[in-house]
Amino acid sequence: MPTTNHRRPTTRIGYGFDSHEFRAGIPLKIGGIALAHDKGLGGHSDGDVLLHAITDALLGAVAAPDIGALFLPSDPKWKGADSVVFLHEALKRVRGAGYRVANVDASLIMAAPRIGPHAAEIRSRVARLLGVRADCVGLKAKTPEGLNLENAAIAHVAVLLEKAAAARRSRKKSKT
Ligand SMILES: [Zn+2]
Repeated sequence: MPTTNHRRPTTRIGYGFDSHEFRAGIPLKIGGIALAHDKGLGGHSDGDVLLHAITDALLGAVAAPDIGALFLPSDPKWKGADSVVFLHEALKRVRGAGYRVANVDASLIMAAPRIGPHAAEIRSRVARLLGVRADCVGLKAKTPEGLNLENAAIAHVAVLLEKAAAARRSRKKSKT
């Protein structure tokens, strides 16, 4: 019979996916940044596809319920809500489990607008929200070649957590 290891692992990986449909006449928010565009992302809350995928990656990393279970799309409380609220709840659960974010890596897929000119601003905003340095946030922007998804925004996110105690030890060590 295999034995169960009850020690907390030093690192944990998380993965999140989200997609939203573009709709005319609503503001576009990606990574907590408002982007000028004639369409925004529909769905519950502010439709921030990147923050939703990051939130799900964080929740998945600590085996917590996912964003849809914690913040029911049918609950009118979340209509138009700032997605930063969801991210903060996920971070609270990460800290509660004894971990902190080491780095995140995201791919954004959408035909328009172009993300490149805003990538640095999005990365630094996401880094601030997560409490990590901007060079711990990877962001790649792709167009949906051959996918026939011109009216969708898609985000894939991988996150690595490290044990908070281990993080404190390595910081102390680097000082001496
Ligand atoms: Zn979403």
